[in-house]
Amino acid sequence: MAEISTKPNNKALVVLSGGQDSTTCLFWAKKEFKEVYAISFNYGQKHQHETAIAQSIAERAGVSFKLMDIYFISQLATNCSLTDSSIKMDKEKPEGSFPNTFVPGRNLFFLSIAAVYARSLGIRDIVTGVSQTDFSGYPDCRDSFIKSLNVSLNLAMDEQFVLHTPLMWKDKAETWEMADNLGVFDIVRNETLTCYNGVVGDGCGHCPACLLRRKGLEMYLEKKNLKH
Ligand code: ZN
Repeated sequence: MAEISTKPNNKALVVLSGGQDSTTCLFWAKKEFKEVYAISFNYGQKHQHETAIAQSIAERAGVSFKLMDIYFISQLATNCSLTDSSIKMDKEKPEGSFPNTFVPGRNLFFLSIAAVYARSLGIRDIVTGVSQTDFSGYPDCRDSFIKSLNVSLNLAMDEQFVLHTPLMWKDKAETWEMADNLGVFDIVRNETLTCYNGVVGDGCGHCPACLLRRKGLEMYLEKKNLKH
């Protein structure tokens, strides 16, 4: 509580995708900051309803929502997706599915744009749901990258941004626990979109994102049941 009251600026901007992680972070931010804003990106993702989901979650949370169109990222990433061997799993997916892809530079763009937008709103605190624990294959989810970018953004704009990563060292089970502790377990479970096949809530059940999410959920529920 003391920490909150001493913050010079009690506003935060959350990078919201409408998935489990960023939604949990949105409600974390609501608890930590007085005034919360959300920003989502249209970067040419196949599941366009992702941004609509993010918007409805923001509305439900009662926070101001901004959708930024940065379609150029998908144009930049196209070749990399096609040549990246780690994306082979997409061949097994139905037509029109969202590729389980590392989009090169995505978080670099997201957070840089978020910082410029935050600055225009007089916000210094920026929240992102990246996690090194479960997504160690994504270089731009690593703590070292976030810290480095934080320094760069401050230098770029002569600002004192703080990039918050409440999930950095949490696994999926711990993220479920956090949502539960924040009182938003059902919202996160039923209304977020994590699935690479674009199915809201518990998802398609078989894509890598669903498997990871379900494994974490089962681990958390098991732990919770053991306590009762
Ligand atoms: Zn799925």
